[in-house]
Amino acid sequence: MTDRCLVWWIRDDLRLDDQRCLDGIGEFDRLIPVLCLGQRGIAGGDQAARLDGVDLPFRRRSPLRERFLHQGLDALARDLCERSSRLFVLRGSPDVDLAPFAARVGATQLRFSLGCGTEEAREEIGVVAALEAQRIAWRGVAQRTLIEDPAATFTGARLPRVFTDFRKAVERSVQPAQPQAAAPALPPCSLDAETWPVVEPTAELDDDPRATFVHVGGEAAAHARLDDYVFGTQAVARYKETRNGMLARDDITRLSPWLSQGSLSVRRVHDTVARYEREHGANDSTYWVGFELLWRDFFEWTAQHHGARLFLQSGLRDVARPWRHDAEDFARWREGRTGDALVDAAMHELAATGFLSNRARQNAASFLIHDLGLDWRWGAAWFEHHLLDYSTASNYGNWQYIAGVGNDPRPLRRFDTRGQADRYDPGSDYRRHWASA
Ligand SMILES: Cc1cc2nc3c(=O)[nH]c(=O)nc-3n(C[C@H](O)[C@H](O)[C@H](O)COP(=O)(O)OP(=O)(O)OC[C@H]3O[C@@H](n4cnc5c(N)ncnc54)[C@H](O)[C@@H]3O)c2cc1C
Repeated sequence: MTDRCLVWWIRDDLRLDDQRCLDGIGEFDRLIPVLCLGQRGIAGGDQAARLDGVDLPFRRRSPLRERFLHQGLDALARDLCERSSRLFVLRGSPDVDLAPFAARVGATQLRFSLGCGTEEAREEIGVVAALEAQRIAWRGVAQRTLIEDPAATFTGARLPRVFTDFRKAVERSVQPAQPQAAAPALPPCSLDAETWPVVEPTAELDDDPRATFVHVGGEAAAHARLDDYVFGTQAVARYKETRNGMLARDDITRLSPWLSQGSLSVRRVHDTVARYEREHGANDSTYWVGFELLWRDFFEWTAQHHGARLFLQSGLRDVARPWRHDAEDFARWREGRTGDALVDAAMHELAATGFLSNRARQNAASFLIHDLGLDWRWGAAWFEHHLLDYSTASNYGNWQYIAGVGNDPRPLRRFDTRGQADRYDPGSDYRRHWASA
């Protein structure tokens, strides 16, 4: 009998639950999970953020983002060990090093999750070309989104430009696939190669005592939050009324960092809420969590569809606007010194925790764009630096949307930040809580 060996190239899919790269894993004699230190999302966090070839005055990833990533990788390495497997590490870049590695270990197939974004796509093309040159079979697995194949839903037509059209079409005709439980055991492998961790642990960081929730990377923490939110506090049954809250721990799900890292499957979230509905009854709030998850899908598929246009100043709709590039105004916004109490509070929270509610993000973004008139991509780059849930599609898609250069036909999405503060922070609790840096 021939020895069947699967190499799983790990990307933004740091989990074993509902892990489609491991479908049919029982048919393989060996499994080799491997991460490349030179790959997108791992390398480059300490390099300066850049725009139009110019360095911005901060790094691509903040120390908190770096810590969250390492926690996710530590957790995956531990989970693999518990199943007699290992997380192997290559120090080079995937397009150069993966195929020779796969050939050396006698891989019969290599699988990876398909990414989102032009740089990720370039990376995949390089890997696939090298694998094909070595005659190694490969499979790219689409598992970031609830809907797996929009082409099957929007037959003959293009992806809808407007979210409502997209949502209605999906709700009419698509039933998300059931999540698959993690395999209780994995095929072993012994190999003369480095295993995670191979990099210095990130420096100890003290969590800001003002944080109402601290995100810890990894699958166990993600599932603990999901279970607590849905079945523990049952806050899911009040989501529609609380979702504009900016401060309280359970006003919102806070699941996005794990969804972006892939330590939580979006199908698992959907399925858990559906189970709650079967056991306790559905209401507008339980529906609304799925509604928001479709926004995520919409931005993911839009990004795939439009490629590099996501990063253009003129956006998907090719809108020319006289954007300003005033370094001092940008610094005041970043540091929460604008004089607008809601925006300043949001910027302090972002820097201290790596997280913001959607309401706070919208106001902070609108202020940079519409009040300061600054290039929306500067704001997007600052969010990319800080957000634990940073995802190319949702970040750049939402920024474009508010800047009025995205898919949305409405030209301007200006938020009256003072009116918003009165409405969503009537007692000033949020503004007081995050009043200082
Ligand atoms: C300027 C700006 C930048 C953003 N950047 C990101 C980003 O980099 N990564 C990211 O995941 N989200 C981003 N969002 C979307 C949204 O703000 C976050 O997903 C949400 O605040 C995360 O908190 P939560 O998990 O508690 O969300 P909840 O309110 O509990 O919503 C549940 C889930 O629905 C999805 N969702 C909700 N709203 C949106 C939305 N507007 N767009 C896409 N998905 C949504 C998320 O997966 C979220 O986890 C951005 C929004 C804005 C306005």
